[in-house]
Amino acid sequence: MTVGIDIGSVATKVVLLNQTEMYRIVCPTGWSPRQAGREAYQELLARSGCAAEEVRYVVATGYGRVSLDFADRSVTEISCHARGAHYLSAGVSLVIDIGGQDSKVIRVDGSGRVEDFIMNDKCAAGTGRFLQVMANALGCEVDELGVMTEDAEPVKINSMCTVFAESEVVGLLAEGVPKERIVQGLHQSIARRVAGMAARMGKPPKVVFTGGVARNEGVCRALEREMGAPVEVPDLCQYAGAIGAALIGRDRVS
Ligand code: ADP
Repeated sequence: MTVGIDIGSVATKVVLLNQTEMYRIVCPTGWSPRQAGREAYQELLARSGCAAEEVRYVVATGYGRVSLDFADRSVTEISCHARGAHYLSAGVSLVIDIGGQDSKVIRVDGSGRVEDFIMNDKCAAGTGRFLQVMANALGCEVDELGVMTEDAEPVKINSMCTVFAESEVVGLLAEGVPKERIVQGLHQSIARRVAGMAARMGKPPKVVFTGGVARNEGVCRALEREMGAPVEVPDLCQYAGAIGAALIGRDRVS
């Protein structure tokens, strides 16, 4: 039995793999990555009915990975996401991951190993944080955004910067622009930015979208429009990093 713990800036994901089953949990990271990782792990053990002694290897990943003192190994989220996406969708050649505070584009080979990657972790534009700030300005929850857009014509959001874009959204609302058009514009803005990163990786045949933001259908559709290619979202998109970590752990003990 192996465990992958992905301590993200917003959410901590833990996956426990045995020969036949996968158990998983997602919790907010909060102010202490170390505590979040520890508590989520204990909670998953309790839920799965597995004892800590049965766990042969723990791999930590994500921005808070270094804080986990009980992990056997820490591995970069780039390698874990590539491996996890390959497991969730065999044949993937490009992984687009949008998490709470970063976005990454990873080119992977036929066995889920990293060939090349680009990462934006310098600013909140094009990340889940951007959408959380905008949802707040729009007076709704972030998980409502994806289903709000339908066929609305996107309004152009000129600012890339989250702070300026938030003021722009407030201004558009004051002008009476429908929320649906604003949300569509925000999705387009994220998609353009990330599609620009993806274009630097050539034109890969199979694109898989992971990370918490992949749960937003509107961003996925906007990405397909911007990239001119289908984008697949696995059901366990937010767990890709933790799954990859648990699989890398399995390699170490088998
Ligand atoms: P991290 O690893 O950086 O913590 P995740 O990949 O776990 O990030 O994604 C967290 C982000 O996913 C948050 O910014 C959150 O807004 C977004 N998110 C989570 N669930 C949903 C959902 N149902 N719809 C849209 N966005 C979501």
